[in-house]
Amino acid sequence: MSKKIHAWGASSATAPIAPMTIECREPRPHDVVIDILFCGVCHSDIHQARDEWGGSRFPMVPGHEIVGRVREVGSAVTTFKAGDLAGVGCMVDACRTCASCTQGFEQFCAKGFAGTYNSTEMDRKTVTHGGYATEVVVDEAFTLRVPESLDPAGAAPLLCAGITTYSPFVSSASSLAIAWESWDLVASGTWP
Ligand SMILES: [Zn+2]
Ligand SMILES: [Zn+2]
Repeated sequence: MSKKIHAWGASSATAPIAPMTIECREPRPHDVVIDILFCGVCHSDIHQARDEWGGSRFPMVPGHEIVGRVREVGSAVTTFKAGDLAGVGCMVDACRTCASCTQGFEQFCAKGFAGTYNSTEMDRKTVTHGGYATEVVVDEAFTLRVPESLDPAGAAPLLCAGITTYSPFVSSASSLAIAWESWDLVASGTWP
């Protein structure tokens, strides 16, 4: 089951980003439905929309720095409720059973994680679309809580550029060196 929503996307590697209609799945028991308020424009959105990394899927709706307001949740969702501020980064699913996933490193999923856009769900058939759209439906396990104290527009870039810098601080024993290295990459526009 799916429904049609409004989005902005690229129909080809040479087409400008333009309004389009895309399919959005109806919420499953563990899904969170988010009305998108803001979405950052990451330079990797441009690279993928222009197929500069190869293998792009069209039509493509970019956007992986998503902040929005939860409109509804599936029947089994326990971590979000309607009205919550929520975010979505560059991943929307993974196998959740491999060694990497069970250690919290879904980005290294042995089966390959499901990207927020220009990717497929874990069924490897259903194409995913990103945040240049009116809404997004994401499993609660890949939905992030955004504090009400943050400006939602300012918080959106934290979902990609920000976390690239922050994550090494909290996950590595040599965090400072790695963080500074990441910051250099972010500041220079090399990554993400
Ligand atoms: Zn990015
Ligand atoms: Zn996995």
